[in-house]
Amino acid sequence: MSTGIQSTNVRRGKRDADRRPPRTDKLVPVSASADIVIVGGGCMGASTAYHLTRRGVTNLILVEREAQLGAGSTGRNAGGVRHQFSTEANIRLSIESIGSLETFRDDVGFEIDFHQDGYLFLLARPEHVEVFRRNVDLQRRMGIPVEWLDASEAARLAPGLDVTGVSAATFCARDGIADPNGVTMGFARAAQQAGARIQRETEVVGLRTSGGRIVAVETNRGVIGTRAVVNAAGPQASIIGRMAGVDIPVAPYRRHIFIAQSPTPGLWERPGAGLVPSSRIMVIDFETTFYFHREGPGVLFGMSDPDEPPGYDTTVRWDFLDQVTRVAMRRLPALGDAAISHAWAGLYEMTPDAMPIIGAVDEVRELYVIAGFSGHGFQHSPAAGRILADMIVGRDPGVDVRPFRFERFAQGALQPEANVV
Ligand SMILES: Cc1cc2nc3c(=O)[nH]c(=O)nc-3n(C[C@H](O)[C@H](O)[C@H](O)COP(=O)(O)OP(=O)(O)OC[C@H]3O[C@@H](n4cnc5c(N)ncnc54)[C@H](O)[C@@H]3O)c2cc1C
Repeated sequence: MSTGIQSTNVRRGKRDADRRPPRTDKLVPVSASADIVIVGGGCMGASTAYHLTRRGVTNLILVEREAQLGAGSTGRNAGGVRHQFSTEANIRLSIESIGSLETFRDDVGFEIDFHQDGYLFLLARPEHVEVFRRNVDLQRRMGIPVEWLDASEAARLAPGLDVTGVSAATFCARDGIADPNGVTMGFARAAQQAGARIQRETEVVGLRTSGGRIVAVETNRGVIGTRAVVNAAGPQASIIGRMAGVDIPVAPYRRHIFIAQSPTPGLWERPGAGLVPSSRIMVIDFETTFYFHREGPGVLFGMSDPDEPPGYDTTVRWDFLDQVTRVAMRRLPALGDAAISHAWAGLYEMTPDAMPIIGAVDEVRELYVIAGFSGHGFQHSPAAGRILADMIVGRDPGVDVRPFRFERFAQGALQPEANVV
């Protein structure tokens, strides 16, 4: 694989560039008040803002430290959306969220480029096969149309795939790929149209409490008086928590994405070439965590590095590409001749059980958290924002929220998600 045009941290320009809602904030000092302040303009903050406005809470301010929304993990993710999780709680988030993404254009009024070409998990190790058999049983009991495949059936679904060593696979045709920035911008724009204020280039630097409850948010541009705060700061959620003296166990881990292009323009598109899938099917080699899907004329791929320490560094480690390439060429040999046109790194936001935190924090009244989605949060943002909005306004969220409660860590009541890549 040739590294072609290398850039140290190229974000997904096409997705970031043209889709921003019009700026309504001005670079003036903030001196305001609001019923609720949402910290963080990624998919979680935007979804929460949207769902709050739908529940009549429009006196809210979303603050984002960057010049644009979706500049954190949301703008750096692979766009994957799947039902195939191991816990009932996550599968429920997927069922609701995928339903929302299917009707997003009509409901929210924004195009999100949602392609349901399926997710294919390749399994090589007997212990993984056993776990996935249990997962598939659970998923099917919950009405998800998941197929159990042998290696040759898997190979037929994804032309160009080498299935050597694969003993089984699972496939769900309703899984797919959507545009994370489209979802974020759609939610943000609709919230703005309903009266929510969005304050960019505004960094939260402190939280003020009095008598055990939130009273104000300090930013680099002034103080916002408020009675409630939503911590939607993604990988930075623990930093925001510390501002109120709360230890939120969300740890940042760097993850890379590379975009490969065919060595000869059009080669991968030639009819019958069979070098790479023509659909946008997402393929995940569960043993190595190598995954790929088509991205325009190219192929997007990534893999986790088990030796990566926690930290906020998002510069691209080009030496890691060699490690990924060895696995990539084995599973998708066409990548051996490819050139890398783009690469970037973003942060997973891991909790100890790889389950999100959605809800209130007991120690400080009216401090809410929606964070810790452990590398699969984009796809759950529609349901997660809806659930948190219901909790904030005192409505029954209609789902079992115990697996998401912040208190579970202190109580040791963890039900870990096993299907994390
Ligand atoms: C390489 C990679 C691939 C991924 N692939 C997938 C995938 O295929 N499918 C999937 O569902 N998920 C995927 N994820 C995970 C997904 O991106 C995250 O779970 C999701 O984006 C989290 O959204 P968020 O809104 O919580 O965080 P973010 O998008 O990080 O948003 C938090 C925001 O808070 C802002 N902020 C932080 N501190 C402050 C402060 N002090 N003041 C003001 N603003 C602040 C940040 O600037 C940021 O914009 C992937 C992640 C990575 C890194």
